[in-house]
Amino acid sequence: MSQKDILQTVLESDELPTLPTVASKLISLTSREDTTLSDIADLVSQDISLSAKILKVSNSSFYSFPQQIGSIKQAISILGTNAVRSLVLSFSFLTIKAGKDKDTFDFEKFWERSLASAVASKLILDKVEGADTEEVFISGLLQNIGELIFAQTFADKYEEVLTAVNDNQYDLLAAEESIFGVNHCFIGYEVAKNWGFPDILLQPLLYHHNPAQFNGSSKNIADTVKAVYLSDLLTNLLFSDKPEDYHKRFREEAKQLLNLTNEEIESIFQDVHIHIKKAGEYFGLKIKNPKSVNEILQEANVRLNLINLDYDQMNKQLIRAKIELENLAKELEEKNRILDNLANIDGLTEVYNHRYFQNALDQEINRATRNDETISLILTDIDHFKKFNDTYGHQIGDFILREFCATMKAILRQYDILARYGGEEFVIILPSTDEQGAYTAAEKLREEIDSTVFKLDGEEYHVTASFGVVTINPAGEEDFSKSWMIGNADEALYEAKKQGRNKVVCWSPKKKWYKL
Ligand code: GH3
Ligand code: MG
Ligand code: MG
Repeated sequence: MSQKDILQTVLESDELPTLPTVASKLISLTSREDTTLSDIADLVSQDISLSAKILKVSNSSFYSFPQQIGSIKQAISILGTNAVRSLVLSFSFLTIKAGKDKDTFDFEKFWERSLASAVASKLILDKVEGADTEEVFISGLLQNIGELIFAQTFADKYEEVLTAVNDNQYDLLAAEESIFGVNHCFIGYEVAKNWGFPDILLQPLLYHHNPAQFNGSSKNIADTVKAVYLSDLLTNLLFSDKPEDYHKRFREEAKQLLNLTNEEIESIFQDVHIHIKKAGEYFGLKIKNPKSVNEILQEANVRLNLINLDYDQMNKQLIRAKIELENLAKELEEKNRILDNLANIDGLTEVYNHRYFQNALDQEINRATRNDETISLILTDIDHFKKFNDTYGHQIGDFILREFCATMKAILRQYDILARYGGEEFVIILPSTDEQGAYTAAEKLREEIDSTVFKLDGEEYHVTASFGVVTINPAGEEDFSKSWMIGNADEALYEAKKQGRNKVVCWSPKKKWYKL
């Protein structure tokens, strides 16, 4: 729909609020130059209950005149024609209120906020020297009448606008413009123009979100527009969930737009909630005890601190939990490592056990095959150990087994793998080691054992051991297998025993038995 169509639909809508007779007659009366004060007084006085309400407000602290105002005529002469018109319109709108609450648009809240804006507009403009404040109340009250008109005449579509705003997709004006092509400022302005509103009431409707765009020559209207604009910030301070933002903006913009001083701004903050409460009473709107600006800001501050505190605490707890978890994981890793090790370690000698040896040999054979390298294996067996046990006892035998291993471990390289093959037989995997290297290692072990005196409780013991060594390049042997390799080491060891023990015998596929 074009702007024109939208406006046409709105103006022809049955849902469009109609002004009570007195209000609309008053508007046309006040727009004529020849109208006298008495004409206006006569018209308003026809509506007794309206007159009573106007007198009540006229005598209230809202206007704070020292003298009692007893008649509408007196009110008009003291407050001014426009102020009375403003009051008549205010009462008119606040009595028509109109509308069942839709899902999202809350009519009661709308008028509550509008009244707050009206009060705020007047308080703000009151601070501007020489400003004419007669009109500002009704301008503040009706600034957002376009929203209400939208909500009444395009109920469903306006729900979409409010949903988009609630979802934080758009601000209100942008949402209205994207869905209707026009915003509530335009609609409010056009409808009020249709009602015959004078310019001073129309301009704030059109420019209340954008006072800078008003370029008329009347300072009075310009100031009214600015006050109405500021009243919206103040109302947002009071009603929105981001009071701090609006507080800051209000302070800045009130200084900038109307040259308000800090003291003037402070005085508005101090009074506004009291005036809103009173205005609610005069105009028959139930407004729950409004909170003062200070109270609202304090609460917001506390809320912010609470959020920060929670966040801090949560952060601390998370960090603590993370550290605990990391420590647990480390502990678990260590325990697993120990367990793994325990499962691989021979309990008596603390070298690797048979199971570990078998797996390690598989891996080393794979590696040697991949790298096309030789791998060596030394099988060693303590000589006449049965006799040793028989002579010194099993416990001394155990001690010798442990010392035998410790002695060998001290000599071997870091990458050599020493394991208990079974009984008093041990095996050493020597990765990447050729015949010469393996023989040298075995010979060194043999010599070291032979030359070592094992001491326990003042006694000295001596053993020798025999060594069978194989060196093979698994990649170069067609019939290579692990058990073939171990079998050959065993044969070499048997050969060393046969040759008189305390000997090293080597075996390789090409050389077979040899002694370097
Ligand atoms: P050889 O020189 O031919 O190897 O003679 P040997 O007596 O060492 O050989 P044999 O295999 O006949 O005996 C091995 C002995 O090793 C038998 C057993 O008493 C001893 N032995 C095996 N395991 C242990 C052990 O855990 N602790 C002790 N103290 N002795 C063990
Ligand atoms: Mg033996
Ligand atoms: Mg043996």
